[in-house]
Amino acid sequence: MRLVYRVTPQQRLIIVEHALQQMQAFAQRRWWHCEAGGVLLGRHLLDSHDVVVDEVSTPQSSDRRSRFGFFRSYKHEQIAHQRWLEHEQTSAYLGLWHTHPEADPTPSDVDLRDWQQAVSRDAFEGHRLFFPIIGTHNIRIWTLSRRGVFRELKLENKNGDEKSCNTD
Ligand SMILES: [Zn+2]
Repeated sequence: MRLVYRVTPQQRLIIVEHALQQMQAFAQRRWWHCEAGGVLLGRHLLDSHDVVVDEVSTPQSSDRRSRFGFFRSYKHEQIAHQRWLEHEQTSAYLGLWHTHPEADPTPSDVDLRDWQQAVSRDAFEGHRLFFPIIGTHNIRIWTLSRRGVFRELKLENKNGDEKSCNTD
């Protein structure tokens, strides 16, 4: 299964199954599970405006994690840079993900500040970064553009175009 979100009329965000499983593995389904997070890594497709999340970085020993907090260490940037080198400089940094111990997650003030900082300080391609929060039931994704436009993405469907291709 992959998730497809509508970003703009021309652009979709596609999260492939591998990346989805990497994040869902850290969903805080038990009271003792700490928040987790990392960076989104993927591609800007050349033949469309679509963006694909291929993988994510997962919690590192240098992160600080608690039930209601996640402090991402510098290690995630190093992982992103390493992937970029390994993938002949086509692996792009697309945003930040983390978990919340709530069914239907909403960003905290700390999250909003963190995201604003990422958009203003981090180096990235394109107009925007993406910020999924993995709740215990739902995944919700927000985007913030360089121009400061902030909104939630709408889930388009759960399998992309794969189904219609297979039934032809
Ligand atoms: Zn948060």
